[in-house]
Amino acid sequence: MNSLRSFAAEKLAALESAALRRRLAETARAPAHQVTRNGQALISFSCNDYLGLSTHPAVVEAAIAALHTYGLGSGGSRLITGNHPLYAGLEARLARLKDTESAIVFGSGYLANVGIVPALAGVGDLVILDSLSHACLLAGAKLSGAEAVRFAHNDMEELEDILDRRRAGFGHCLILTEGVFSMDGDLAPLPELAALAERYDCWLMTDDAHALGVVGRGRGSSFAFGPKKLNVPLQMGTLSKSVGAYGGYLCADRAVIELLHNRARSFVYETGLPPAVVAGASAALDFIAENPSWIERAIGNAQRFARALDLPKAQSSIVPLILGDEALALKAMALLAEKGFLVVAVRPPTVPPGTARLRFAFSAAHEPGDIDALAEAVRMLVLPLRA
Ligand SMILES: *Cc1c(COP(=O)(O)O)cnc(C)c1O
Repeated sequence: MNSLRSFAAEKLAALESAALRRRLAETARAPAHQVTRNGQALISFSCNDYLGLSTHPAVVEAAIAALHTYGLGSGGSRLITGNHPLYAGLEARLARLKDTESAIVFGSGYLANVGIVPALAGVGDLVILDSLSHACLLAGAKLSGAEAVRFAHNDMEELEDILDRRRAGFGHCLILTEGVFSMDGDLAPLPELAALAERYDCWLMTDDAHALGVVGRGRGSSFAFGPKKLNVPLQMGTLSKSVGAYGGYLCADRAVIELLHNRARSFVYETGLPPAVVAGASAALDFIAENPSWIERAIGNAQRFARALDLPKAQSSIVPLILGDEALALKAMALLAEKGFLVVAVRPPTVPPGTARLRFAFSAAHEPGDIDALAEAVRMLVLPLRA
């Protein structure tokens, strides 16, 4: 074997023996939550398509119409020829939903975060993040060259202590958090975060990947703490989850957005999204704005499941069941698959060591009967594993 192949084979063997190796499984989703995997029909509780919009007829039709009008690819970066006419409508919808002056759409949520953070912070600045923040927020912080410091999950005392001790030694300071945490489903304490950001002259950014279309009447975490929008000057998120499409976004003041047009490298040097994706995302955002009762169903289903198992009340559409050990989480996943449920085990490094889990993602499109049957299977097959 040559050294490259043996390098790869040894790394894989080490992952395998730690129950950490991952493998692709072909998964056909159609419609949204009925999936076929390894020839088996399963009901999925692992998709982030929280409103079932990826297969909604209005969304699919809008994408098809755009495909016929504009073709498949956008043909260039947005600053050259890739800024097709559908972008303006999508960005206007996002700004309206988030109540900001402006919005910018990126190729994905990951690309948004690795573009936004380095455009706003650099050497001599401070970036402070929640320790459970998504990998792409950390990647953005590292790319920026700013000093990156993490605080324990949702620990406002530790954040204040860091700000007290360190804020004065730096130029600008960004505070990064997720609005709804992707693997735990809990909300960030945004009123406290916004107050600390104001007191210490920091710029607060929320990653609302799992909050848009789910909390705050569908408008996201800034709207989840009462009728009034909280002061979060940088509201980032993705079009790949509840919106059922693909792409990332930031909603902010016009000057900030125009700076990003100039300085976010993952925007400047990247081809625009396919017009069909932009059209589908726009139709999905219209649906979100017009269907509040459908939005309520996603959290409602998560709460129904949590109630059935005496778990803490769900704050979003995500409910974690922590098993700790990686092999145990894989076993729990296999047991549920035998009963017709797809619930993918989540292992480190996606979650901290020792917290391997089943992550249940609920959708408005799930039926109450599906939820109850899942809860029963979990009670019979998975809870005993925890003892
Ligand atoms: C999924 C996710 C992203 C990445 O978004 P994509 O559009 O899938 O690239 C970013 N942040 C969080 C918290 C996520 O869960």
